[in-house]
Amino acid sequence: MEQSIDRNSDPQYIGKNLLQNIKTWQQELAEGFSNTDEICNYLNISQADKNFISPSDFPLKVPVEFADRMEKGNINDPLLKQILPSKDEDVATLGFTDDPVGDISSLKETGVIHKYQGRVLLIMTGSCAINCRYCFRRNFPYNDIQLSTKKHLNAIKYIQNHPNVSEVILSGGDPLLLNDQKILSLMRQIESIPHIKRIRIHSRIPIVLPSRITEEFCSKLSTIKKDLILVVHSNHANELNNSVQLACIKLKKANITLLNQSVLLKGINDNAQQLCALHEKLFTFSIMPYYLHLLDKATGTAHFEVNQQQAVDIMNQIKKSLPGYLVPKLVREQAGACNKIVIA
Ligand SMILES: *Cc1c(COP(=O)(O)O)cnc(C)c1O
Ligand code: SF4
Repeated sequence: MEQSIDRNSDPQYIGKNLLQNIKTWQQELAEGFSNTDEICNYLNISQADKNFISPSDFPLKVPVEFADRMEKGNINDPLLKQILPSKDEDVATLGFTDDPVGDISSLKETGVIHKYQGRVLLIMTGSCAINCRYCFRRNFPYNDIQLSTKKHLNAIKYIQNHPNVSEVILSGGDPLLLNDQKILSLMRQIESIPHIKRIRIHSRIPIVLPSRITEEFCSKLSTIKKDLILVVHSNHANELNNSVQLACIKLKKANITLLNQSVLLKGINDNAQQLCALHEKLFTFSIMPYYLHLLDKATGTAHFEVNQQQAVDIMNQIKKSLPGYLVPKLVREQAGACNKIVIA
């Protein structure tokens, strides 16, 4: 990452959209924003408005192409608010902890979380293409538990030894951050286990870095002989542009079922109108709603919390406006529980 690029005047970035076509997704990832000053300059957010911090443990990270969907000069932009570190993160709040969903205690092997019956989750990497400030895994000891290629064998053995597991979930971090070869080689191994019916991928990358969804990758995925499901993560209709739609078309062509999960976030999408717009737009991209999560109470995220009663009220309004198939399930993760708790 070159820290001092001025994207508003550097000739390399003028006509960026033209250049983007010939850049690889890895380059786009590497050229993303990694500090607060840089993105504020790019978006014309004035110094006076700043109430930000530059945390070192969970730094700012945003692809330029995601930042381009934000409104310039708007400190309250719903996409900007998801990624801009704020001083509120330093406020300690009762009930907010480092492992709010009890994942660490569900760790069976390095990188293998088996908390829910019939499904195991593999932590493919600790990194993401974007750092969402509200993330429940922001304080997670990833480096210790992520699945390295060497440890794949143990994970595969674990799945082989559990015949009641029918679905493997590739998660992270963001599993699509890995290269095609790594993803496909793991999928091939999973594919060879007879009791596995489905492989699910949890990824925000089709939304935040759609160029990663290449024709080549999709055609490789289409050769996997299990049902494939991709659960994307989008919180606001402004996140969905033409590039995202193109990625979805490629994924659908590979016969992949597309679902969306969102997090209910204060000041970002905590009203019925926004959420209806999001789900109507997702449908035009062939993405069906799955979950709307209440915030997991991770340290440093309390300022994003929408309480359960408000959430239920919002859901009731959504149900009045949308057909049933466009209404997500409002859920909450509870440490120790053996499934997500459906609230509405
Ligand atoms: C949500 C989740 C799953 C998948 O649960 P579904 O209800 O099948 O989507 C699996 N493992 C963990 C740790 C989860 O948080
Ligand atoms: S993409 Fe998902 S896992 Fe990654 S930081 Fe955002 S919410 Fe967390």
